[in-house]
Amino acid sequence: MKGSKGRLEAALENLIDYEQAYDTFQWDDVERELGLAPSGEWNIVAEAVDRQAAGRRKHKAAFRFYDGEAEQTLTYLQLKLLTNKFANVLRQMEVQPGERVAVFLPPLPEFYIAFLGIIKAGAIVIPLSTAFMSDAMTEILRDSEAAVVVTTPRLLDRIVSHRLPDLRQVILAEEKSSAPAEAPGPDMAAAQDAKGWESEAKTVSYANAMEISSESFNTLVMGREDPMMLLYTSGSTGKPKGVIHVHGGIPHYYQTGKWVLDLHERDVYWCTSEPSWVPGISYGIWAPLLLGVTSVIYYGEFNAEKWYEVLARYRVNVWYTTPTALRKLMNFGPANPAQRYNLKELRHIATVGEALNPMVIRWSGNAFGLRICDTWWMTETGGQLISNFRCLAVKPGSMGRPIPGIYAAVIDEQGRELPPLEVGQLGIRAGWPAMMRGIWKDEEKYSEYFRLPPWYLTGDLAYRDADGYFWFQGRVDDMIKTAGERLGPFEVENKLAEHPAVLEAGVIGKPDPLWGEIIKAFIVLRPGYSWSSQLKSELQKFIESRLGSHLVPREMEARPALPRTRSGKILRRVLKAQELGLPGGDLSTLED
Ligand code: ATP
Ligand code: MG
Repeated sequence: MKGSKGRLEAALENLIDYEQAYDTFQWDDVERELGLAPSGEWNIVAEAVDRQAAGRRKHKAAFRFYDGEAEQTLTYLQLKLLTNKFANVLRQMEVQPGERVAVFLPPLPEFYIAFLGIIKAGAIVIPLSTAFMSDAMTEILRDSEAAVVVTTPRLLDRIVSHRLPDLRQVILAEEKSSAPAEAPGPDMAAAQDAKGWESEAKTVSYANAMEISSESFNTLVMGREDPMMLLYTSGSTGKPKGVIHVHGGIPHYYQTGKWVLDLHERDVYWCTSEPSWVPGISYGIWAPLLLGVTSVIYYGEFNAEKWYEVLARYRVNVWYTTPTALRKLMNFGPANPAQRYNLKELRHIATVGEALNPMVIRWSGNAFGLRICDTWWMTETGGQLISNFRCLAVKPGSMGRPIPGIYAAVIDEQGRELPPLEVGQLGIRAGWPAMMRGIWKDEEKYSEYFRLPPWYLTGDLAYRDADGYFWFQGRVDDMIKTAGERLGPFEVENKLAEHPAVLEAGVIGKPDPLWGEIIKAFIVLRPGYSWSSQLKSELQKFIESRLGSHLVPREMEARPALPRTRSGKILRRVLKAQELGLPGGDLSTLED
């Protein structure tokens, strides 16, 4: 491993002295570094694309798309010209600044061109996952009053036009045949409603519209507080919320790309998140473009061999992924990936989305010779707020320390800061560049997040240790109240997963007349194990001896799988609803 260029660069990490940066850094410093107009007249695409295309990175690859067979590269200059063309397509359609335009496409080049072109034209982009079926789509398109949708013929029947009075036009991009076919699944509602498209009066071809559109466009100058994106949350705790993000997030995406992802000029970077989920946008689009690095976009099904092939083929240096993906690689991939694939250039791995189990960090040390840096943030926060850093010790299981410029605390129900080691709600002092500026058409919901000034209330449970590291404990909604104690489910889940028989576990509080609630665990066994009362009491003893009797799940049940969102988060609300025989809640963003 020694002597490779990738590894040597690690010595030159962007953040060397965390304490000093924490004490002195101000977000304005970044505005000055980037030469952003002090008046706040910004367009994020002008900074991320046009500025690079006018400078020395003009012919550098911005994106390298790969679908497992074919590949396509877009340089910064090509990206500028294509997004200009797309902005002109919208202008032809008389899309006004502030109008909503949805992108309902797989992560093809067209996704990125449309996404950036929409913002260039001053409109508000709504990125939508192709996992959404017609009911979820209709709800979001109605809620946001989208004027235009960009999609593919394959997905068109999920857009029920007669239920969408504001929809004026649909732009249809062809998928190349090499793209993996995603099983659309039965979508009866859509099949019945697809009639709306018979006339095809509202559809235009992406290729035709782009062909006749001009390459020159003056990116609209917007204000830093102007919305650029409406992004719906994952829906783990309830119905997805339409979170409003603004052009003013630039310093946040840029600086965290530098400090947390440690991106350098020569890096090849792979963010594995789909661009309809916030990591695939803030750190799949904004951070790498603002920093002028080359991103790999892989579009295909998850498969351990393929993923390692992508890392090796593109000599990926920096990799931003999820604990779920790493667990899959750990459980189902080859035992010694570094022996089978050339992963010498890989020098930094970071994750987001759910807590990173210490076991995965240990595995990564063996598999890649690298420790993983977990990062914590949410759709609403727009950018990373708490993270592990390359220059600090990683405490396995901890989400790390606040990013310089961010003040985080664990608070009680009145908003008072709690001392170290006490579990409470994670609060962030409100006001950072990428923070959401609203919930679409739901002022009340928005103000709930800020009801205890000066805090932004995250809805997550955590504690802080004496060294200032934060430890995720679950969601406020998942809090278990047992025998007068308040517990998060996460510690028990994590400990159960350390037992050799357990692949993963989901833990809920189940109402009980005597205890208030008891802890109930749902267990997915590893291959080769079967469920028995003997195994159950073994697991109970395992928890008792390692965590204490108060954390022992009194009830346990084996399941073939746990319900998860498409981004891999355990849906404890679904487990609870099933357990209590209640309506299952909104499942529109479920994986299956
Ligand atoms: P909804 O808000 O619709 O219920 P969601 O909260 O899952 O869904 P996201 O915004 O995608 O939607 O996810 C943010 C949440 O993900 C955080 O509130 C937190 O619970 C979890 N999360 C993110 N990163 C981490 C991490 N490093 N460790 C633990 N949990 C994390
Ligand atoms: Mg949330």
